[in-house]
Amino acid sequence: MKVKIIKCLEDNFSYLIIDETTQIACVIDPSESKPIINFIENQNINLKYILNTHHHYDHVGGNLELKKRYNSIVVGYKEDKDRIPEIDVLLDDNQIWKENNFEAKIFHIPGHTSGHIAFHFFKEKKIFTGDTLFSLGCGRIFEGTYQQMFDSLKRIKELPKDTKIYCGHEYTLQNSNFCIANDSKNLKLKKKIIEIKKKLKSGLPTIPSILADELECNIFLRAKDLESFSKLRDLKDNF
Ligand code: ZN
Ligand code: FE
Repeated sequence: MKVKIIKCLEDNFSYLIIDETTQIACVIDPSESKPIINFIENQNINLKYILNTHHHYDHVGGNLELKKRYNSIVVGYKEDKDRIPEIDVLLDDNQIWKENNFEAKIFHIPGHTSGHIAFHFFKEKKIFTGDTLFSLGCGRIFEGTYQQMFDSLKRIKELPKDTKIYCGHEYTLQNSNFCIANDSKNLKLKKKIIEIKKKLKSGLPTIPSILADELECNIFLRAKDLESFSKLRDLKDNF
């Protein structure tokens, strides 16, 4: 299983997951169709599935066009069936979604939106976290409570430490400014910031991140309790 990072819109990431034995692919959160089509054309890839982490436009904007063009099946959380365009397959929390050679566990992780999910490809130790967990940050709480977001992040924190994190946006550098402002003695974070700047300077994405690094550097994952997490989330909203 190969993951191809496709930049969309201003700072979104869509991901193409390709099973190289069959050339069957899934796209995660196609913000728009054009960059996905550009990549797929001439590559003999069969875009069979569109997987959505949540209903926001910058994550589902390409659904309609891609489904029309490739006859893809749209997969998303059951309670978002009226807000994910063209949804076909309704998922439940803790369900294993298994098709062809793809196998992912579904985590319902509300907070950013009420129907937000993550796709955990557990055999490959890769998780697609949408706008819930970012590298060095977490999503804004739009529809949920602090408690929900705190609990959602906790579920991700419990995964194996070498899990690769694929999130919905390239926010890592901005996020790092907030982390270092509130955690100025964190040496591991300082080291990570140097790596981040190097990658960005070379035009490379800062994604994927490794869970072990996030546990040490991401201030939202380091928050010990709900109260300190909530305080940080408020501070970040006005940072
Ligand atoms: Zn969002
Ligand atoms: Fe987003």
